[in-house]
Amino acid sequence: MATEKRKGWVYLVGAGPGDPGLVTIRAQEMLSCCDVLVYDALVTREILAMCNPEAEKIFAGKRGGKHFMKQDETNKLLVKKAEEGKRVVRLKGGDPYLFGRGAEEALYLVEHGIGVEVIPGVTAALAASTYAGVPLTHRDYASAVAFATGHEDPTKAESAIDWGALAKVGTLCLYMGVKQLAKIAENLKEHLDASTPVAVIERAGTPSQRTVAGTLATIPEVAVAEGVQAPALTIVGGTVELRERLNFFEQRPLFGKRVVITRARAQASTLATVLAALGAEVVQFPTIRIEPPEDRKSLQAVARHLGDFDWLVLTSANGVDALFDELREQGGDARSLANVKIAAIGSATAARLSERGLNADLIPRKFVAEEIVSELQERGVLRKVFSAAPYESGGPRFLLARADIARSHLPERLRALGADVTEVVAYRTVLETEGHEEGRQALMDGHVDAVTFTSSSTVRHFVSLLGEEALETVLKSPRLNCFSIGPITSATMRELGLPVTGEAEQYDITGLVSMIKDSLCA
Ligand code: SAH
Repeated sequence: MATEKRKGWVYLVGAGPGDPGLVTIRAQEMLSCCDVLVYDALVTREILAMCNPEAEKIFAGKRGGKHFMKQDETNKLLVKKAEEGKRVVRLKGGDPYLFGRGAEEALYLVEHGIGVEVIPGVTAALAASTYAGVPLTHRDYASAVAFATGHEDPTKAESAIDWGALAKVGTLCLYMGVKQLAKIAENLKEHLDASTPVAVIERAGTPSQRTVAGTLATIPEVAVAEGVQAPALTIVGGTVELRERLNFFEQRPLFGKRVVITRARAQASTLATVLAALGAEVVQFPTIRIEPPEDRKSLQAVARHLGDFDWLVLTSANGVDALFDELREQGGDARSLANVKIAAIGSATAARLSERGLNADLIPRKFVAEEIVSELQERGVLRKVFSAAPYESGGPRFLLARADIARSHLPERLRALGADVTEVVAYRTVLETEGHEEGRQALMDGHVDAVTFTSSSTVRHFVSLLGEEALETVLKSPRLNCFSIGPITSATMRELGLPVTGEAEQYDITGLVSMIKDSLCA
């Protein structure tokens, strides 16, 4: 059919098994520019977050065993939206053309004059195979693979599956049908040895993946005993034996650990990414949000006169962003800082600076006021001891661009040593009131291994967001550990009745992660 005759266009997109890292770039492109998204139950929240925020998002999957939308309704909806001229993405778990009715939808659309473009996805069998350490082929075990459904249309009178033929293939990947494992095993035992290894992989490729293994003889019982739930994929064949050696995914240091992150959603990504790479399931409980200062006049004024200072002190990546955004608004750029030395507290601050094309002149070894003062003294910028006598050519001029709630310790110490200090509020840290449902539920259910605190304000807001009663319940969980990024955060935790299970030796995200790893893997 010629393109111009099409009444509209639908992109049938595979979302992969749930890990956002396994979504293809083409799928991301389509998600980010679609007008309408129609998605299934197997599509995860992280993947939905890749979608154009303006798009209309429609759930068309199954919840609690019931179809939210009948197949016929979904088909009609796709046609209607496409005919309205909308760019429609129909997002399906795994690959669109492997089970899950992708082909039926595509045919319906084509029959109704709608164009279909299909974007493949990583199918569950591939994710289950790699992430459970069960290769699909191996010269000594299997030279062919079959993808089959373990759950047939119940209205069919006779089984369409030729189990005898399937048994001869090599490795078998069975989609669906975890409830019918006993029947499947029974059928296969007629053609295969009862000792043939079997693995059932639940939620493959997600942080909550679980694998149970046995043989054709034992698997039905093992699966019931372990309470295996859908979605799960069954792999039958000799390569299941290789699992013990190849199962890297479930052996990552934080695998099976659920970690709550309390920092602002916009800031959480580095911490979340590093923890997830170590295998943790990361749950966001954003307690703070970064906002511009209520009154921007002071920030505007210093941004226009940055060259008046000898030293600029930045204590966070947010401070860097706020100051440089303002600098650009005022018509300036990095050249305004040509003769200004820069101190960056924390490696993340220094990294953000270098993204802006500037290298810090000083990154104190420890990220506290005392250390920065003593390193400035070592360099002769500041006097070694307090003295009321004025500097010959005036004290060094410092600009501190920080949060509204920043501590007064550093400016006080600098002034005591004769420096001329200007403080400016670069941004505000306010209470985040949205996005706590999932985190709160996990905390209340006692299903959290660690909560991370990266500043005193995250501690204060965590406590106030939960409320006294809920906090008491949360703290009773024997599984819960509370981790702090440094001594100031720890002090606030203790003050508010939170235990400090561990404190980072190096007061930054790297230090925090390494401490969590040591502590939870011990
Ligand atoms: N189109 C999908 C399959 C849809 S049928 C794909 O290509 O993966 C749904 C079945 O897929 C589930 O019953 C289960 O057997 C399997 N499945 C989907 N996602 C899974 C996952 N993350 N882990 C294990 N099995 C999964």
